[in-house]
Amino acid sequence: MAEHGADAFIISHSANLRYYSGFTGDSSLLIVTADVCRLVTDSRYTEQAEKEAPLFTVVQQTEGLLTEAANVLKQLGAKKIAFEGRDISFDHYAKLKELYPAGEFVSVSPDAPRMIKDEGEIECIREACRIADTAFALVLPLIKPGIAEREIAAELEHLMRREGAERAAFDTIVASGVRGSLPHGRAGEKLIKSGEFVTMDFGAVYRGYHSDTTRTVCVGKADARQREVYEAVLTAQFMALDAIRPGKSGVEIDAVARNYLKSKELDQYFGHGLGHSLGLMIHEEPRLSPRSQLKALESGMLVTDEPGVYIPDWGGVRIEDTVLVTGEGGEALTHSPKELLEL
Ligand code: ZN
Ligand code: ZN
Repeated sequence: MAEHGADAFIISHSANLRYYSGFTGDSSLLIVTADVCRLVTDSRYTEQAEKEAPLFTVVQQTEGLLTEAANVLKQLGAKKIAFEGRDISFDHYAKLKELYPAGEFVSVSPDAPRMIKDEGEIECIREACRIADTAFALVLPLIKPGIAEREIAAELEHLMRREGAERAAFDTIVASGVRGSLPHGRAGEKLIKSGEFVTMDFGAVYRGYHSDTTRTVCVGKADARQREVYEAVLTAQFMALDAIRPGKSGVEIDAVARNYLKSKELDQYFGHGLGHSLGLMIHEEPRLSPRSQLKALESGMLVTDEPGVYIPDWGGVRIEDTVLVTGEGGEALTHSPKELLEL
């Protein structure tokens, strides 16, 4: 707020509601000034908000969220108001300006403090990773010729819930055989066949915090080409993991994996960035990619390390860990086996 000369901040994104107040509901707003913290919500959430956000004064709206927000701004005498321009729709912004014409609105992101996780947040992510690892170990015996991708996804999600996840971190990806060349192939009706690679990308949410894992396994014996591509992706993944440490840039870490794949003439099949951060959302800043803005990794950041090779009409391999940046280097929090599993 000081940086932008704002005297109030409207926080609207659900991840930021939770981060700044503890409140886990939606359809609500935080309105913060230097000395006042208000949480505007409706009757569905009033009791919950009072319990979860003890530092905030809860305001129950009856005339509409934006109307009440404008009332609060008026009471506070706010003049320059920061808001999450990436989250508030154009229509809501126009409505807010109409309801509170005295305000000058400026789009500001309050996301930056979320980049470095504290001990409590790291413990939640560790637990989300443990849940995903446990589910993966239990799903492996079910992967056999004849099972549908969709069934594997359903089992993974069920097992994660049973292990304590509040939900899956995203729609579980299961892509087998030639569908493996689709980096985000949603699990479909396709039946798994002997000799195919199966790529599974899955995560758990524990107390709001996400994990993200990808493993690629072979159903039956891998052929020479499968083995060669798998070993190349795995080596790139390990090299990037080794390179992660405070002070390294997002471009540098990405280049470690990308240059190795280039030496194997596979870089043209690696279209996406090496990794992303995660926390209250599955994709957060900073990123590891050729276009990353991150100048220097810091202790307490989380990143994924997920090189992939996607060859049209052949298939693909991706291997992904959730990694904590520590003073000593990168610590993978996901521990599912990475050597080529031939089931
Ligand atoms: Zn993933
Ligand atoms: Zn990921």
